[in-house]
Amino acid sequence: MVNIFRKGGVDFYEISVRIEFVKIVLSGPPGSGKGTQAEILSAQLDYAHFSTGNIFRDHIARKTPIGLQAQKYINNGKLVPDAVTLELTKDLLIHNLKPGIIFDGFPRTIGQALGLDKILEEWNDKISLVIFVELSTSEIIKRLTARRTCLTCNAIYNLDFKPPRKSGVCDICGDKIYQRSDDTEPVIKQRIEVYENQTKELKTYYKKSQMVYEIDGILGKDGVLKEILKLIKKYKI
Ligand code: ADP
Repeated sequence: MVNIFRKGGVDFYEISVRIEFVKIVLSGPPGSGKGTQAEILSAQLDYAHFSTGNIFRDHIARKTPIGLQAQKYINNGKLVPDAVTLELTKDLLIHNLKPGIIFDGFPRTIGQALGLDKILEEWNDKISLVIFVELSTSEIIKRLTARRTCLTCNAIYNLDFKPPRKSGVCDICGDKIYQRSDDTEPVIKQRIEVYENQTKELKTYYKKSQMVYEIDGILGKDGVLKEILKLIKKYKI
């Protein structure tokens, strides 16, 4: 693709060459462990980890225009508008140099799924695999109220089963760990409702045309990882 832009009275030509790469969508309710899985898989396979939630939190911390817009939705457990999210996606897909991308928490609505498919279709491309990690509401609330996140590197902890070695400090980068403002019970309940109403329809959408698999999140970190790796191997992607 060639983009031409003019700067200081001079024409610049930006040429981007797109290479084939694996595209895995990891979906599931909040707290199902999809973020943890995406983090491990991207490190093991050298894939890009595209977490819209992490990107929005980064924008919020830097007080960018996207961050200021996203903050009010996130703090109320609502979804950030599709147009904002899709803009980030296009940028990522154009510039990706890794052999694969794990989409974590994206797409979350039919609009986002259609938007992603449309971008990929322009390159004669499509999603390789869609995985839903499922979990019951009571387990979600239990996990999320005990979840803590690193301010800097986004590492995820759980006060019940994976506490940091030193209280309040990230094992990996040494910065502070904190409780996300949307990991409180009223906001968690709102996020679960949003998931039930919007994200679940995605399964029906993807079942029509893509490879969709469901994994029980109660299997825990290692169990879920094993299942995902089996699927990746099975489809040689
Ligand atoms: P979780 O899956 O635990 O809810 P995320 O970090 O994926 O955590 O998302 C946190 C919040 O960020 C969501 O509740 C929503 O407000 C916003 N968000 C993340 N991804 C998207 C998306 N694809 N579309 C719209 N909003 C999103």
